[in-house]
Amino acid sequence: MMRPFPIVITGHVDHGKSTLIGRLLYDTGALQADRLAEMRQSSQDAGKASEFAFVLDAFEEERARGITIDTSQIYFTSARRPYVIIDAPGHREFIRNMLTGASYADAAVLMVDAVEGICPQTRRHAKLLSLVGIKDICVLINKLDQAGYDRGRYLEVAAQVRDLFAEFSGTPFAIIPISALTGENVATRAREGGLSWYYGPCFLEVLDAIDTPPIEERPFRFAVQDVYQHEKGAVVVGKVDSGRLATGDEVVVWPGGDSARVRAIAKYPEPDVGAASYGDAVGLFLDADRVPQRGEVVAGEPAPNAVSLFGATIFWFADSYVSGRRVMIRCATQAVAGVIELLKVYDPAAPDEELDPESLNIGEMARCRIRTEASLVIDPFARVPELGRFVIECDGVPAGAGIVA
Ligand code: GDP
Repeated sequence: MMRPFPIVITGHVDHGKSTLIGRLLYDTGALQADRLAEMRQSSQDAGKASEFAFVLDAFEEERARGITIDTSQIYFTSARRPYVIIDAPGHREFIRNMLTGASYADAAVLMVDAVEGICPQTRRHAKLLSLVGIKDICVLINKLDQAGYDRGRYLEVAAQVRDLFAEFSGTPFAIIPISALTGENVATRAREGGLSWYYGPCFLEVLDAIDTPPIEERPFRFAVQDVYQHEKGAVVVGKVDSGRLATGDEVVVWPGGDSARVRAIAKYPEPDVGAASYGDAVGLFLDADRVPQRGEVVAGEPAPNAVSLFGATIFWFADSYVSGRRVMIRCATQAVAGVIELLKVYDPAAPDEELDPESLNIGEMARCRIRTEASLVIDPFARVPELGRFVIECDGVPAGAGIVA
């Protein structure tokens, strides 16, 4: 089964996030009709307007009553693939979850009310998305029905959005005029009616066009967990962090850069299963001059980077950090001592303001440069989660988490 593609939906309060989610669930058939009718009825009985936000209200009520549905993970399926909407409960939680990997989004949606235009939270969310490095951002100019389907107004808000992203040297992947309430341009193109002046793809088509390859198809990466002696030689044990591997493949062991050939891929009790892919825990028998050690990374093409200086965005969840103090960086199975140079410090709740970069306090985030005492193997461009994120330990205690910029 295909893994759901994780997205996060952001935007200023009341700009239509809940309505969009309800609309998506409805239009993609994620909710059965009878269940939906039941939810709508109970929402009307409770005196609430009959709009798509009721779907989420109903979920919330069920959750409050301790019933089944988890609104922190909402699923729907398009023509191309399944999606999961990651909940962004608050700025700090969002940043913590993204930077610790508790829940990562591959793409983001930013909703802007066509009548109100850009508001303080629109700006903050755009900034946070740029800080956590989400590149694929789809902007929805919502409530065009309320804005009289005015094309001029859409173009005006779209221009404001482009200017906003330019401040963070980004560009949105797409800017689409929609009405979450009527469903126009959400799951299907609005060829007629108020939005007929728009000829581009609808929101779901744009989401489907995002081409992040599934993790099985990214470069092969395998962080060595342990090495055991076996009667047939050394077996290098670990989990495939991304990509796939077959017996006979040529690989390279980083950070040293030594070549090796895969003689067998063992999966107990099989001595050679012939192939392994993302998520498989296997033992590799390698023909190599030197047996890899724990903390080294067995990789395919293109090669990861072996660095001792790199940029990162970090989130801090311990006592204050003072620039220059020695820490331990743990990335996959690697552990390397290093020092963090704080460049810019932010409070995730108000990221438009920079704080004093001398120290980093609990709940804050920072753009920084990290210098390590030995080489660290990272993978900033191949989107391999394990080699793109790390944990920071101070005096043996986890104190922060971050992603490679
Ligand atoms: P959230 O706070 O971002 O989740 O916003 P909601 O989805 O709760 O929407 C806030 C209000 O705007 C609700 O009353 C919605 O019915 C209304 N709304 C949302 N989308 C639209 C839209 O496309 N058109 C109109 N006219 N109203 C909308």
